[in-house]
Amino acid sequence: MRLSQYFLPVLKENPAEAQIASHRLMLRAGMIRQSSAGIYSWLPMGFKVLRKLENIVHEEQVRAGHIPMLMPTLQSADLWRESGRYEDYGKEMLRITDRHGRDMLYGPTNEELITDIFRNAVGSYKELPLTLYHIQWKFRDEVRPRFGVMRGREFLMKDGYNFDVTKEAALHAYNRHMVSYLRTYERMGLQAIPMRADTGPIGGDYSHEFLVLAETGESEVFYDRAVIDLKLGDREVDFSNVDECQDIFDEFTNPYARTDETHDEAAYNAVPEERRMSARGIEVGQIFYFGTKYSDALNAAVQTPDGKQVPVHMGSHGIGVSRLIGAIIEANHDDKGIIWPEGVTPFHVGIVNLKQGDSATDAACDQLYHGLVAQGLEPLYDDRDERAGTKFASMDLIGLPWRLTVGPRGLGNGVVELTNRRTGDSEEMSIEAAIDRVSQIYVGKT
Ligand code: ATP
Ligand code: MG
Repeated sequence: MRLSQYFLPVLKENPAEAQIASHRLMLRAGMIRQSSAGIYSWLPMGFKVLRKLENIVHEEQVRAGHIPMLMPTLQSADLWRESGRYEDYGKEMLRITDRHGRDMLYGPTNEELITDIFRNAVGSYKELPLTLYHIQWKFRDEVRPRFGVMRGREFLMKDGYNFDVTKEAALHAYNRHMVSYLRTYERMGLQAIPMRADTGPIGGDYSHEFLVLAETGESEVFYDRAVIDLKLGDREVDFSNVDECQDIFDEFTNPYARTDETHDEAAYNAVPEERRMSARGIEVGQIFYFGTKYSDALNAAVQTPDGKQVPVHMGSHGIGVSRLIGAIIEANHDDKGIIWPEGVTPFHVGIVNLKQGDSATDAACDQLYHGLVAQGLEPLYDDRDERAGTKFASMDLIGLPWRLTVGPRGLGNGVVELTNRRTGDSEEMSIEAAIDRVSQIYVGKT
């Protein structure tokens, strides 16, 4: 993409309404604009990152054997009356009446709707196990929407639902989600620590939240520093293998890690003192096993091999896709701007032309640009007629992990400069070598 042809409305001033870095930087870097409290338009660069996160989520869910679908944002109130949650949900639920006077709502979550789909279509144990998920906008009329996309009213969530005949099978689904989530966050360049959690209004007795450590996080967390060293990495996982998923679950949940809601002083004090940590964190996902809560309420049962009708065991599993962008920026920025992890960056590399209009410099930039595109990469070429300082400031603000700087002086020596956004380290090399190096960096990351 050539910057002169893109839509990237960066702001020079810090927006007064933004209290935390990610909110400020998303506004300044032209990623989002507020349309009303807690509701945002996603401008092209914000939308690009959102799509990248969605892709990662899809790939990892499908890898775990879960099946994508799409449910609507608007739901009928009837199903929620059946489960009893129409009244329970309170003011967070946006209620709407259609022209025929029918009660509708903008879905804050989808347990009722998916259970209804399930009960009308599945009647036998033979069709299980089954895990369906979608990535869809949710609406929760939060009292105090704040911190930009971190606590919005409209937000994008991946929510998945497992249906199993037995509790054991449902707990395997729970573990599968744990493993796939760990992998999802790692691919986004994030460490999200699974912590024992409260089950909240959804109910049930088995739940973990995934927390990204950040000073601006809304949750207070307590953990054993040993969890920080845990990495899933690129180990091959057989998601159908019950023991393997259980082992990974145990590995990641054995060290003490809880939010203030479930914090247990005695268990925490059993951790060696030098490893006891308390911090703040951002909740980027949560998994639940809640047994037959919804299948009982909505009558979702299957026939077992011996002909009995049993309610299915269920769980629901959510990832805050739009909130994740805020969390990624909270964990990856400096005073100049964002520093995107390579797995989610909106463009792979920036090209800064130091002397726009100079034919040799323009030609070198074009050669780089086309060479990178031919390697399947997306460069962002700052071809505006602007001062070098302005171009560098914009590149630092939008935070592409790599920058190529092209100017007459370097070209005189046959080189361009490749700079790492995070470390600031630069290296000079030929155009061919630069194209090669950048493509090597992104092998397996695009
Ligand atoms: P919170 O405690 O932050 O209000 P929650 O526990 O009510 O969130 P869940 O029902 O667990 O939310 O939803 C799954 C995920 O959706 C959360 O882990 C979070 O990442 C994201 N999420 C929830 N509420 C919002 C919101 N208002 N804005 C953005 N993302 C949200
Ligand atoms: Mg939650």
